[in-house]
Amino acid sequence: MNKTIPTRPLDAVRAGFHYGGMEYRNLGNTGLRVSALSFGAWVTFGAQIEDDTAADLMRTAYEAGVNFFDNAEAYAGGRAELVMGKILKDFGWPRSSWCVSSKVFWGGQQPTQHGLSRKHIHDACHDALKRLQVDYLDLFFCHRPDHQTPIEETVAAMTDLIRQGKVLYWGTSEWTARDIALAHEAAARNGHYAPAMEQPQYHLFHRQRVEVDYAPLYRNPGLGTTVWSPLASGLLTGKYLEGDPGDTRISLEGYDWLKKRFEGEDFEQKIAVIAKLAKLADELGITMPRLALGWVLKNPHVSTAILGASKVFQLTENLKTIDDMPKITADVMARIEEIAGSKPEPEQQF
Ligand code: NDP
Repeated sequence: MNKTIPTRPLDAVRAGFHYGGMEYRNLGNTGLRVSALSFGAWVTFGAQIEDDTAADLMRTAYEAGVNFFDNAEAYAGGRAELVMGKILKDFGWPRSSWCVSSKVFWGGQQPTQHGLSRKHIHDACHDALKRLQVDYLDLFFCHRPDHQTPIEETVAAMTDLIRQGKVLYWGTSEWTARDIALAHEAAARNGHYAPAMEQPQYHLFHRQRVEVDYAPLYRNPGLGTTVWSPLASGLLTGKYLEGDPGDTRISLEGYDWLKKRFEGEDFEQKIAVIAKLAKLADELGITMPRLALGWVLKNPHVSTAILGASKVFQLTENLKTIDDMPKITADVMARIEEIAGSKPEPEQQF
């Protein structure tokens, strides 16, 4: 039997709906309704922030209607999942009311501890289940493509986990459109489950994949997206307008690679754009992070934008974006486009 997800028109479900103060969207062609804003653990959990702060952040998110918490085996070497698992257990929210993810790829240094082999997928899933203290992962992502492993093996290993009830939906992260299509073909050939969602970087300064490369995949097979770094690691909050404000992730040990992206000519050009966007946000009576997040959510192919936060006030602020959406009109979108000048060229299409 062909277990790939069938194609059907999805405009109605993709419109999203509101419940409480949150908007919910179908994850691509699946029936899973994820909150338009979700919350992730990268950089912060088990590293930058205290566990109590992580708990406050999770509570703030859940109480605002966030129902998807994102994690990975690689985050803080597994500690991020340990911290999140304990918080989920301590709060005791109904398991049916939230979704949690893990990602497999960067497990350890040994040859069997990384990549997308059947063995590492099996081990990574079981280790994540233990760290997160759950019986199943709602979403399980292949954190990067692995061209050293046959795609049939990866698709079969994910299918096995789904059949065993240990994973509900599997997806990819930062795969090319072609690699995603190949996974679908392998699934169709073998009666296996195909990836339902992709986790790409997406913000005003990084648009090609989400807006151009994946475009054919939204129609068929109906790809969902859980986009990451919607604020470009905090750059789009506007807090770097007057230089490095300190006490941010770019000053953390091990993040020199990120700090380098916050320097140089390209960075100065981005700062000039953000200065103009900040004025527009001001005019609308909102803040720069909310304008940037609202722009991301205007894309109907974004199933959920994963927020990150190291402080509760950041998350509280960012969650207000849902209420701001009526202010992000077509006219405002056109003004943002004009200021940013970052629209990808259609001819670069895959
Ligand atoms: P963002 O781009 O939204 O950056 C979040 C960071 O920006 C915060 O931790 C904080 O950093 C700063 N910030 C956020 N809001 C505010 C605010 N209102 N005012 C001031 N500063 C603010 O997202 P992330 O880069 O954190 O990514 C989100 C999630 O996406 C991750 O947790 C992870 O789950 C996922 N992800 C997935 C990847 C993948 O390869 N699949 C890769 C990266 C992320 P600071 O401490 O500096 O103040």
